[in-house]
Amino acid sequence: MKLAHLNWRQAERVLADPSTTVVIPIGSTEQHGPVGPLGTDWMIPEWIAGEMEKRTNILVAPVIPFGVATHHTSFPGTIDMGLETLVAVMRGVFGSLAKHGARRFIVVNGHGGNDPAIEKAGLEISRSTGALVALLNWWSIAPQLNPAWTTGHGDAQEVSAMMHVHPELVDLSDCPKTEVHELSNDFAFTHLSSIRYKGAAVKLVRDLKLGLPQGGFGGIPSEKASAEWGRDMMEAVVEYFTAFAEDFGKLPLDRPSA
Ligand SMILES: [Zn+2]
Repeated sequence: MKLAHLNWRQAERVLADPSTTVVIPIGSTEQHGPVGPLGTDWMIPEWIAGEMEKRTNILVAPVIPFGVATHHTSFPGTIDMGLETLVAVMRGVFGSLAKHGARRFIVVNGHGGNDPAIEKAGLEISRSTGALVALLNWWSIAPQLNPAWTTGHGDAQEVSAMMHVHPELVDLSDCPKTEVHELSNDFAFTHLSSIRYKGAAVKLVRDLKLGLPQGGFGGIPSEKASAEWGRDMMEAVVEYFTAFAEDFGKLPLDRPSA
C-alpha cells in the first residue's frame, strides 16, 4: 500500500494495526559526480520501496527528496535542508504516523548525511512510544551482499543503480574524468571528505568542490558503471530489504523506556 493512495479512513485502519510496517524512503537532491542525476539519492530509495511494496505487505510513505547536503552546496542544483530542519521533518513524519498507532518504521535511506537526523528523531519516537525504527542504507548494505558492489557517493555504484532504476537519466558517453585535487602526498583523498594520513583515515571538514571539482568521488569512477552491475545489485537489495521488512513486522514491540 502507498499512504498517498489511501483515504484517511483507510489509513486509520492500517495505522492502528500493530503489525503494519511503515517504509519511509528518503534521500537528497545533490551533486552526484559528473553524470549522476541530482535526484540519485531519493530516486533509488523510492524505487526500492516501490519494489518492496509489490512483494510484501507494507505501507510506503511518500519519498522525502531533501536531506542534509551542506557539504555539496557549491554544486548547482543541490538543495540543503540542514541538520536541524531534517530532524524536525523526521520528527513530524514519525510523530504524525505514530499518533495514529504506527509502531514499526523502516527508513530506506539513500544519503549518508541524513543518518544523524534520522537516528535522533528515530530514538525520540522509539523512547516515547516504544516504536521499532530501522535505518537501512542501501549503498552500505549492497557491498555486504557482494563485495564487488562497493560503496561510494556519486561513483560507479550509484550510477550503476541509476542505470537500472532510471536508465534514461544517465549518459555515460558524456562522462568527464573524475578529478581529485590532492592536498599533498601525505594527505591523499580516499573518499569524499576522508583523507589517508600515515595509513589511517581522517575526516577533513570542508567544501567538497575544493578537492573534487567534478563532484562524486566515492572511490570507483563513474565511467566504470554498468547497467548489469545495477540490475544484479538492485535485485539483491530489493530481495534483502523485502525479507528484512517481513521479519521486522513479526518482531515484538518494545515498551517505552523511562
Ligand atoms: Zn548519493
